[in-house]
Amino acid sequence: MSRRNKLYEGKAKVLFEGPEPGTIIQYFKDDATAFNAQKKGTLQGKGVVNNHISEYIFTALTDIGIPNHFIERLSMREQLVKAVEIIPVEVIVRNIAAGSLSTRLGIEEGTHLPRPLIEFCYKSDELGDPLIAEEHVLTFGWANELELEEMTHYAFRINDFLSGLFAGIGIKLVDFKLEFGRLYEGEECLTILADEISPDGCRLWDMETGEKMDKDRFRRDLGGEMEAYQEVARRLGILPSADITEIADHKNNKGQK
Ligand code: 5GP
Repeated sequence: MSRRNKLYEGKAKVLFEGPEPGTIIQYFKDDATAFNAQKKGTLQGKGVVNNHISEYIFTALTDIGIPNHFIERLSMREQLVKAVEIIPVEVIVRNIAAGSLSTRLGIEEGTHLPRPLIEFCYKSDELGDPLIAEEHVLTFGWANELELEEMTHYAFRINDFLSGLFAGIGIKLVDFKLEFGRLYEGEECLTILADEISPDGCRLWDMETGEKMDKDRFRRDLGGEMEAYQEVARRLGILPSADITEIADHKNNKGQK
């Protein structure tokens, strides 16, 4: 990892130059942040679990025809992805009121929305990712009309698919955040899904108990973050028996990937 050329370090991932032009390596860290990085911590093994969960979801999305940046998982913490120009708009899809929607509009957390709700935020750490309207996106040129239309279309399809996927393993998909990028292919510029999909950027509630199985455990000091993330992975069939974080840490200690 260290011999590669670092391109960018974010809160949960580091991006390195990939082996071929047009490729990037995403390295998943154990760092956890919340409230625009005012709260910081380390969740041992989070990077490993998120790398595997995101691989699983992106592979499934490829199978249903959602264009995305994922190429292959390289190691416990690394995946090879297509290099894209990230569109600076976070797309949030909500099925049940929670988090900032509940705070902003006074809607009780847990209220089922009559239909899925899409929101856009301007991706800016300095400004704390403020909520914006489509008009802001177009006025400031953060994305064009076609890109907005495609992001919205893909976001609803991803929501349909993931809601079913999680329901099948006894989990409610409350809300989640997506990021898209521009992939330049010759004359063409394609809008494709990028970043990651993991319990860091989704709200996932156990259908029977209502237990939170996502980053709200960290944000709200509930504890048991890694057990919850691992349970999501286990139900997805990714970690059938072995404790993947222990495997990873054992290997890392030996200087392997
Ligand atoms: P809220 O707006 O309620 O804070 O978040 C809505 C959903 O989007 C939650 O599932 C949350 O995890 C996700 N989300 C929103 N902004 C971010 C972000 O900057 N990073 C991550 N990891 N997730 C986010």
